Amino acid sequence: MKVELMRGLGNFIGPPHFGSRILSTALMKDERLDVHFNIETVLNEVRGRSQLDSVDLGNIGNNRTALYKRWLDQLGSSFSLQKYTKIIPQSVKCDTILYSANNGMFDFPTISSLLNAGLKVVVGGPTVTIHKRNMRNVLASYGCKQLYNLTLVSGYVDLTTDLYSIIKNGRDFHIEDNDFSTFWDCENDFIDPYISVLMKLDHNNPGRYNLPVVFDSHCWWGKCTFCSYPHLNKSSFVLNTTPEKVANNIISSCEHYKTKKVHVHNDYFKFDSFNETVFEILNECGIKIKIYSGIHMLNNMKYVNKVNKYVRELFLGIESFDNFSLKYIRKGYTKIAIDKAFNNIMNTCNKKLDFNISLIMDLPVKYKSSVIENYKSLKELNRKLRNDKRFSVVLTPKLIEIGGHMRQTFIDNKHLKEANLSSEIVCGKYRFWKILDELNIQTPDIYKLRSTPLQRFDIDGNIVESDLDLLSEDLIKELL
Ligand code: SF4
Repeated sequence: MKVELMRGLGNFIGPPHFGSRILSTALMKDERLDVHFNIETVLNEVRGRSQLDSVDLGNIGNNRTALYKRWLDQLGSSFSLQKYTKIIPQSVKCDTILYSANNGMFDFPTISSLLNAGLKVVVGGPTVTIHKRNMRNVLASYGCKQLYNLTLVSGYVDLTTDLYSIIKNGRDFHIEDNDFSTFWDCENDFIDPYISVLMKLDHNNPGRYNLPVVFDSHCWWGKCTFCSYPHLNKSSFVLNTTPEKVANNIISSCEHYKTKKVHVHNDYFKFDSFNETVFEILNECGIKIKIYSGIHMLNNMKYVNKVNKYVRELFLGIESFDNFSLKYIRKGYTKIAIDKAFNNIMNTCNKKLDFNISLIMDLPVKYKSSVIENYKSLKELNRKLRNDKRFSVVLTPKLIEIGGHMRQTFIDNKHLKEANLSSEIVCGKYRFWKILDELNIQTPDIYKLRSTPLQRFDIDGNIVESDLDLLSEDLIKELL
């Protein structure tokens, strides 16, 4: 059976995903399937990014320009969908497309376009697991008229999954039985022939290739009101295997992709004897490890000592330094815990450690003045870390939004409300779209229309403008 594999967009340029190595190997090994990789979505992202690169933001201040340029670069994939989605089906040379979807709203226009062109589309990936109950309705709202040719496949593919039968039957399917130990037999990816070119095109991280791996998917905290990861199935990908097999797979994949950096994508990394053994072996080979961690864990000295021993980069979703905002999104800690976590690290670490810290802008605050206080706390921490040779810091600021991975549950209609499209004062991602409009920059309407304009109010009921409207050039500089 002849099929084509296509991957969803959304910061695609960069490393192949862990899941796509497994999917590629599973498809390549089945002799009943003749699979070709269709690179059109990847090319579209390249086209979209290069167009947004040339956007002139006028005279809005150096730091503001640099921050907006960063966001524009991330928007490349969504921009390319608006401009190029309609031509994607022209590149398909057979009747059936396997579409690996991992980015929600970025996947829907392409899937819709492929179906409307009369193709059979078999969709798998996290997007299906998260949206499967209402995915057909969502696709219809994106203009999809030929839903009868769609097959949704949820769950995880491994080397024992009978993909041929799933594709042939054409009925929705949930993969229940897995042998996760086979994950660690997969090293190649359909994207491999294009890797070196794509790495050069990655503006944010040229040449900084990190091999992505996952040991398990589960966040022990799982309470943050904006996060949809707790909806994903709790799974262990290291069941029935040995740390040595996992480490050997990672080492040979690192050799294959010519990198010495590994990014472990466990949602909120916990150490146990299994992954410590894997880390020991990787450390001996000089492979640098980055993990997602959190303030809760870094308040524990035993945990910090292990970070110092094994880890060279930490991803931290701090989100805010403001106690009111932190409570609002149920992060479960206060600024005191943030300070303690960084004191623990600064008092313990004797090796180089890089931080990648994410922040959510436009969260509800007690008073308007709290917005500035929040960024002053950020400035203080940022300076302290950057002045210390052991540490480097990259900040990832995001504007609050509804949809995608952000759940609606954090709207309380008191401190955060949906606004009208015509409201003068709005906050969140929608504010960024509006700013682009004000600057006469063409952006995909579909995304602006699907972003929810929000308004936030302080505890006295006064409206509070977006952080983007309240921050000075000096404080915006801290976000870069
Ligand atoms: S944001 Fe992070 S800590 Fe919070 S529930 Fe999601 S994965 Fe867990």
